[in-house]
Amino acid sequence: MVDSVAIEFAPALDLVLDALEQMRDGGGKLPRASRVSLTQFQSSIVAEPVRRPPEVVDKAALLAPIQARVAVCTKCPHLARSRTQTVFGVGNPDADLMFVGEAPGADEDAQGEPFVGRAGQLLTKIITAMGFTRGDVYIANVLKCRPDMPRGSFGNRPPTPEEMQTCLPYLAEQIEIIRPKVMVALGATAVEGLLGTRAPMHAMRGRWHSHQETPLMITYHPSYLLRNQAPAEKRKVWEDMLQVLERLGRPITEKQRRFFT
Ligand code: SF4
Repeated sequence: MVDSVAIEFAPALDLVLDALEQMRDGGGKLPRASRVSLTQFQSSIVAEPVRRPPEVVDKAALLAPIQARVAVCTKCPHLARSRTQTVFGVGNPDADLMFVGEAPGADEDAQGEPFVGRAGQLLTKIITAMGFTRGDVYIANVLKCRPDMPRGSFGNRPPTPEEMQTCLPYLAEQIEIIRPKVMVALGATAVEGLLGTRAPMHAMRGRWHSHQETPLMITYHPSYLLRNQAPAEKRKVWEDMLQVLERLGRPITEKQRRFFT
């Protein structure tokens, strides 16, 4: 394939070659280029694609304008009014592994970072047990604003289907830029956002799915583990994470394999 640069500079090269030929035909001593070598030179220019270094994509710079759009987004006016701030995502834009959760809770809304409350601290423990830091992976939610709650009430509510559909394009843009090797959906809302399906978690978790050709592991949301502290439930999530490590080609120690057994 002829490189576009070679095509772009072809007229200039022709001029150079014409000039060289005229100098040669005019009997000048320099340059000492035969017609054969000039022809070889010309064909080598056309035949050899110009080799350029691989492009380095600054993913953080690509994410920044999306984050800026999210920060002032009012597509869900009720959430824009009730939120303290939007919660875009956190971690390494070049991450091989991306976690996707549901929506910010009260702690995340206050701090502007996903998974910083009790469930988030448990997720951090899981990430650490896998041999990563939070800074190694990327963490984001389906919804960037905290679902509003009636005044004076506590807790969180799941996003409505309409809220999810409105916000999902932002997550799609994040995934498109980060292009992780493996994704993990945490809980049923994340599954619905990524796969568009609602099914019992016990039927979905623990096996590989695909999100636009990216391998997707489904597991329980950490808040489920806070409600169900049985070691058997923790083990299920851990087995899902072992599959993730295997898929990423990460070494797994015997100690890691035995967690929660
Ligand atoms: S939830 Fe998403 S789409 Fe709705 S206002 Fe917040 S950032 Fe915008």
